[in-house]
Amino acid sequence: MATNPQPSRSQSREIDPLDLYSVRASLSDEERLVQDSVGKFVDEQVLPIIADCFEHERFPRELVPEIAQLGVLGSTIEGYGCAGLNSVSYGLICQELERGDSGLRSFVSVQSSLCMFPIYAYGSEEQRDRWLPRMAKGEAIACFGLTEPHGGSDPANMKTHARRKGKDWILNGAKMWITNGSIADVAVVWAQTEEGIRGFLVEKDFKGFSAELIKHKMSLRASITSSLFFDNVVVPESNVLPGVIGLKGPLSCLTQARYGISWGVTGAAQACLAQAIEYAKTRALFGKPLAATQSAQIRLAEMARKITSAQLISLQLGRLKDAGEMSPTQVSLAKWNNTRAAIEVARDARDLLGGAGISVEYVPIRHALNLESVITYEGTETVHQLTVGRALTGFNAV
Ligand SMILES: Cc1cc2nc3c(=O)[nH]c(=O)nc-3n(C[C@H](O)[C@H](O)[C@H](O)COP(=O)(O)OP(=O)(O)OC[C@H]3O[C@@H](n4cnc5c(N)ncnc54)[C@H](O)[C@@H]3O)c2cc1C
Repeated sequence: MATNPQPSRSQSREIDPLDLYSVRASLSDEERLVQDSVGKFVDEQVLPIIADCFEHERFPRELVPEIAQLGVLGSTIEGYGCAGLNSVSYGLICQELERGDSGLRSFVSVQSSLCMFPIYAYGSEEQRDRWLPRMAKGEAIACFGLTEPHGGSDPANMKTHARRKGKDWILNGAKMWITNGSIADVAVVWAQTEEGIRGFLVEKDFKGFSAELIKHKMSLRASITSSLFFDNVVVPESNVLPGVIGLKGPLSCLTQARYGISWGVTGAAQACLAQAIEYAKTRALFGKPLAATQSAQIRLAEMARKITSAQLISLQLGRLKDAGEMSPTQVSLAKWNNTRAAIEVARDARDLLGGAGISVEYVPIRHALNLESVITYEGTETVHQLTVGRALTGFNAV
């Protein structure tokens, strides 16, 4: 007997253009709650002001207390007033924040992964007690000083150095491109010593320490970027991180931050795709919506493909991280793939919007410009490609 074919469950289910493979459905209730609360904050507090912040090169510092109240600063740390969330939740926090702006996500990445993480992992109990609760509340802001003016991709060649003098250390040198630098209460500074590279907690009022705002950026304009200078700064032994010596200290922080970035950039890409779809549906050209042309549909489908691959990589990476099985090579591939995907989505969305695409009243140009920084910082794309290449071949490429 002939029967009418019934649509399958998957055919009848409504498609979410920003989540084609139902990543959200595989999240726990707690993970979904985290995503929703940060997403609501972004929709209500960030999106209404962020274009103006970007245009006028202003970090929206007034949002810091609310960001802190959401529990997103140092969110994976247990105790010390931190939320103790899992890594997938941290990823979702980054994704939602970067759907707003990469600058805001950078603030949270630096505070959490680059500064609270090393104090928690390598600090003394006194250092943790002193800094972590205030940093979780956003009452103390921190920055991470690794990159130097002569070349960030080769941190082993750092010139900033510290030498012992009695019970203190004398720190000299300079750091460049430092997020949060000019508003930081404390800088986690990595410097060469006779024992190897060590981490120093340099407080803002230490004599000889200064921060200078870097202006004229065409990217991450809603984020503060600074140069740091150390001129015979006296740092007490109690401000040196006792738990790590060597490049593995800063590199382990970067692994944490790069993990978050691999999620974050997908948020920026999602914002661009959402706007590109809306624009293409309502823009009528040659008597029909732009969205009804094959070329526009292929471009939107390409964006969705890139976002979907990035989402799946991040989710799997997060599950590996939560199981304690994530490797730096996997992080490199994710940071490289997902940032490349996001910047391509943002650039193409910018083009699909035509002339409107160059206005900051639409999101793609802001995200595309921001992603120019994201593809460079925390290891350039080349550096991550070389990390994966080395893992595949066993050779350090020259
Ligand atoms: C907005 C912004 C915020 C930042 N925030 C921070 C921060 O908070 N803290 C911090 O410490 N740093 C920060 N950085 C610095 C960032 O991490 C560096 O810019 C990055 O590591 C690259 O270093 P560089 O700029 O010195 O470029 P270089 O290292 O000089 O690289 C120049 C070029 O050489 C390429 N290259 C590198 N190695 C190789 C190789 N082996 N073979 C071939 N090509 C190669 C690179 O891919 C790049 O294209 C920030 C940067 C920006 C733009």
